[in-house]
Amino acid sequence: MKKECQECGAEINIPDDILVGEIVACQDCGSDFEVTSKTQNSVELKPAESVGEDWGQ
Ligand SMILES: [Zn+2]
Repeated sequence: MKKECQECGAEINIPDDILVGEIVACQDCGSDFEVTSKTQNSVELKPAESVGEDWGQ
């Protein structure tokens, strides 16, 4: 399935077998999103706040 990136608006490819709590990354801007809920044909994402972890790349 696809989900719109909340940062840049690009479409993120979400694997159908993704689980709640997993992290997906936008291929376009590199933002990470955590899956907060999942139904048969859609998922809810929230920005994954990786404070103090991914800075400095
Ligand atoms: Zn993006």
